[in-house]
Amino acid sequence: MGNFTGKTILVSGASSGIGKACVKNFAAQGAKLILCARSLEKMQEIAEKLKDEFGTESKVLQVDVRNRTEVEAAINSLPDEWTKIDILVNNAGGALGLEKLHEGDPSDWDAMIDTNIKGLLYLTRLIVPMMLKQGLKGHVVNIGSIAGIAAYPNGAVYCATKAAVRCLSDGLRMDLVDKPIRVTNIQPGMTETNFSKVRFHGDEQRAAAVYSGITPLTASDIADIVTYVTSAPAHVQICEVTVTPTNQATGGVIYKKQ
Ligand code: NDP
Repeated sequence: MGNFTGKTILVSGASSGIGKACVKNFAAQGAKLILCARSLEKMQEIAEKLKDEFGTESKVLQVDVRNRTEVEAAINSLPDEWTKIDILVNNAGGALGLEKLHEGDPSDWDAMIDTNIKGLLYLTRLIVPMMLKQGLKGHVVNIGSIAGIAAYPNGAVYCATKAAVRCLSDGLRMDLVDKPIRVTNIQPGMTETNFSKVRFHGDEQRAAAVYSGITPLTASDIADIVTYVTSAPAHVQICEVTVTPTNQATGGVIYKKQ
């Protein structure tokens, strides 16, 4: 028996990094899981491992969160026994490109805005009403970023999407103030995942350089925080958590050993 026995938890971006670490933590503590991302095979593999290791029941939803029709169809296709979603972790997202705004690639902007902001909105719009209808003590956890607190050079659009996640989290918390649903925005700093590989469009060398000379956070560090905030007693709402590696102060202030 764990903290999450009897709970159903949907994690977007469950195929990699922070999302993958979250589903592992939740599974280890008895949750039923809905994994959602684009990479079907990766999620099926994760679901099988969770079944072997913890006996976890999982449902895999292959969804591109940028596509509203796809998101609606996937959530509406859930069988009744999977619709009692207690916790939604809006984690799918990332950065694309690292360049001056006036030199950036508009298709990167579209992908970031559509994934980080609109994907989060689509899932929230569908799942919060399901929580309310069923009278659940629900919890929405958004994975924002320290990039949402202050911009850093060459990252304006990504930072803007994460500032939006901060405002959306605050606004949703206000809109649900008379309901038993908690809203948490987690704002990690540098965390070693596929994030930089994706940001640099597959350039592994450039991605590795991001984490040289510093001990970054790991996906499981963030998953532990997600587990912590969602395990707090129902009357305790942890609104925001900001977490960085010890040698990072803000998105732009980082100490690296030579
Ligand atoms: P990863 O690249 O390892 O994971 C990103 C996840 O998001 C993958 O599972 C990916 O799955 C999913 N995803 C991306 N686009 C879509 C889409 N259109 N539809 C559905 N799923 C999608 O990076 P992280 O684990 O680091 O990123 C997770 C979150 O953490 C992101 O929101 C990121 O912005 C945030 N974050 C990361 C930090 C870091 O330094 N790593 C710091 C602060 C915040 P798939 O490709 O299979 O669709």
